[in-house]
Amino acid sequence: TRQIHLASRPDGWPTPENFRTVETELPDPAPGQLLVRNSVMSVDPYMRGRMNDVRSYVPPFALDAPLDGGAVGEVVATSSDRFAVGDVVLHQQGWREHALLEEKEGRKVDTDLAPASAYLGVLGMPGLTAYVGLTRIARMKEGDTVFVSGAAGAVGSIAGQLAKHLGAGKVVGSAGSPEKVAWLREIGYDAAFDYKAAPVARQLKEHGPIDVYFDNVGGDHLEAAILHMADFGRIACCGAISSYNESTPPPGPRNLMMLVSKRLQVQGFIVMDHADASEEFYRTVGPLVAEDRIVHQETVVDGLDHAVEAFLDLHRGANTGKMLVRLDG
Ligand code: NDP
Repeated sequence: TRQIHLASRPDGWPTPENFRTVETELPDPAPGQLLVRNSVMSVDPYMRGRMNDVRSYVPPFALDAPLDGGAVGEVVATSSDRFAVGDVVLHQQGWREHALLEEKEGRKVDTDLAPASAYLGVLGMPGLTAYVGLTRIARMKEGDTVFVSGAAGAVGSIAGQLAKHLGAGKVVGSAGSPEKVAWLREIGYDAAFDYKAAPVARQLKEHGPIDVYFDNVGGDHLEAAILHMADFGRIACCGAISSYNESTPPPGPRNLMMLVSKRLQVQGFIVMDHADASEEFYRTVGPLVAEDRIVHQETVVDGLDHAVEAFLDLHRGANTGKMLVRLDG
């Protein structure tokens, strides 16, 4: 069975040479363990940060060891009495064809409610991130004008639709191509623009004042949002993908004094701290998914051999919705 290791740490944009595919023996599960054949794995922007040797909210990936990340798969061998062969489980040992899990590392998912892959997207970490960012961090209220950057991605596409379901007055999104902008209108964004077509500050002007900004991008998006925020607006800092592959960090927003004059609240958050919101999240979003009232698009790349490419493509914006790698196609 095969797995992907980190061979060296990238400086700036990763290259295929930073990764290595390694063939290993298929392990035998000890009592209490599960052997899972992965069917789908997730590639996520946060994994780029873990390739650097820096302390952060998750430890860096080790060199010459398999990468990890969200995945779903089917139990193929176990002596556990909590799981059976054939169960579909969500876990954190992606980037490999087979995962050997302790019982507590796997969670059974309900494939009657949604396909297994949805637990890596709308019903998984990205969906919870969108929900927590809007409700707990930005404290979105009915009637608010909400701006989401990275709007056509996994988190952003759910954030915009959830904002509408939660009663936002107007939801505006930015994304990196005319096709994505058209798609945002299809899934319920009231307005959308291509951030590559003209400066963000200029394009956002006609949509302000903004009550809530859900920031996936940072950089010029954040500066433009600050400029067009309403007084007492709230900014949920979810990510800053515009800087993840830069060797030297770009300068910050030049208009921070506006945080003072507009009395803005700016708060960063990490979804892992909000596991206690999961139940409320499933109660709210589960029915929307079951009744097809929320679009959860996936961009699927086939095969472990293409996982690195999928990861790089994610950063280049090749995905609409959640970027996934199918391992049993
Ligand atoms: P996405 O599905 O949104 O994929 C990344 C997208 O980023 C690409 O599709 C691309 O779309 C966009 N992008 C890449 N470079 C730039 C750039 N320079 N400027 C603007 N957009 C760019 O990924 P996720 O939904 O998984 O993650 C979105 C954000 O949320 C990331 O910043 C991530 O780190 C963060 N995050 C934070 C969490 C938390 O707990 N705080 C948890 C999960 C995610 P385009 O074509 O539009 O450029």
